[in-house]
Amino acid sequence: MSDLNRRAFLKTSMLGAAGAFIGNRMLGSEKLSPLPTEKKQGKVVTRKLGNTGIELPVVSFGVMRADNPALVHAALDAGFRHFDTAHVYQNGNNEKMLGEELKDYPRDSFTIATKVPPEEKDRKTGNLLSGSTKKAFLDKLDTSLERLKMDYVDILYAHSISSRQAVEFEPILDALQTAKKQGKAKHIGLSTHRNEVEVIEAAIEKGVHEVILTAYNFKQDHQEKLGKVIARASKAGIGIVGMKSMAGGDLGKNSDQPVNFKAALKWVLNNPHVHTTIPGIINFKQMKENFSVMEDLSLTSEEKNFIHAASAKAGLYCNGCNTCTDSCRKGLPIPDLMRAHMYAYGYREMKKAREVLDEHQVHDNPCKDCAVCTASCVKGFDLPARLADISRMGQVPEEFLV
Ligand code: SF4
Ligand code: SF4
Repeated sequence: MSDLNRRAFLKTSMLGAAGAFIGNRMLGSEKLSPLPTEKKQGKVVTRKLGNTGIELPVVSFGVMRADNPALVHAALDAGFRHFDTAHVYQNGNNEKMLGEELKDYPRDSFTIATKVPPEEKDRKTGNLLSGSTKKAFLDKLDTSLERLKMDYVDILYAHSISSRQAVEFEPILDALQTAKKQGKAKHIGLSTHRNEVEVIEAAIEKGVHEVILTAYNFKQDHQEKLGKVIARASKAGIGIVGMKSMAGGDLGKNSDQPVNFKAALKWVLNNPHVHTTIPGIINFKQMKENFSVMEDLSLTSEEKNFIHAASAKAGLYCNGCNTCTDSCRKGLPIPDLMRAHMYAYGYREMKKAREVLDEHQVHDNPCKDCAVCTASCVKGFDLPARLADISRMGQVPEEFLV
């Protein structure tokens, strides 16, 4: 980012005088009021992250796809406070970049979350397997802390949890609690982007997780059920962080129907039980747009119209509902492959898409010898066509992927 751009951004986004309070909220047809845990600091809407004692602006910085260190400085200077990364992002370089850029800031001037994945899981059910040991998890956390140049993270998530069994899996619960006792994590939780309702219900019952990072957006068919369980978790004192708010980034595969970014983010935040969100930010323009949402959560008529029209389209976002997997004669991990499809066509994140294909060893069209498709999608996705499209990525030499 040029100095000029950076100065212009800071000028328009620094915390200022209090503005008008947020008006009525729209969540489907339901209108929700702000909770007493919400307030305005200067122009920025902040919410308490459950019972953690942390209070954050409603929009935080999803660092996953960012590789420009100047963005991190600009974000802090502007008023972003929370940074979200993971052990696996950019093969560890994402944590390294953050560690390098944050090392000169006072440790209490920001909060940081990282996610550590359990070692081994059943890709179809999401259940954790015996290779997911406490030691492997804690070793990865130590590597993450070293990359981040920090003694502790504010939030440590068990990454990508997608079944009740995985929530309750003792070695990982023990690892999370040990990390907290050792002072390597101030707060512990889990992230989920598949089977979220079951996962969050299990976490409420278990009573160990303090923060849940969950997919939540206007394109999820199960948004109503998910909204209710999010409210239950929030009322139980669990901090809720929203992700995947962009619902695939585009509604089609030709990059000509982009999701209205601000509308999608405001839709999520109109549920007052979502305490902050972590949209991915990769450039100055996106940062500015994100910041403007922090200041005013009310949906304009144009944004409401977009949500209404876009809700009726199939789009690129897979619910992760698993309805298709049992009926696929090859038992393909279709939700994960649809996620790869979304990364490639919605976000143009080819490397991320390839990582998912490599993980499942899909390097050729898995449907090519299937005369009739027995799997069906609740959203009406043409599964064989999407699988044929995305599997081509498995044959592209890695050096061509960005
Ligand atoms: S065509 Fe593909 S998705 Fe459909 S049943 Fe066969 S392998 Fe499964
Ligand atoms: S592809 Fe369709 S049926 Fe399968 S998990 Fe995704 S939304 Fe559900």
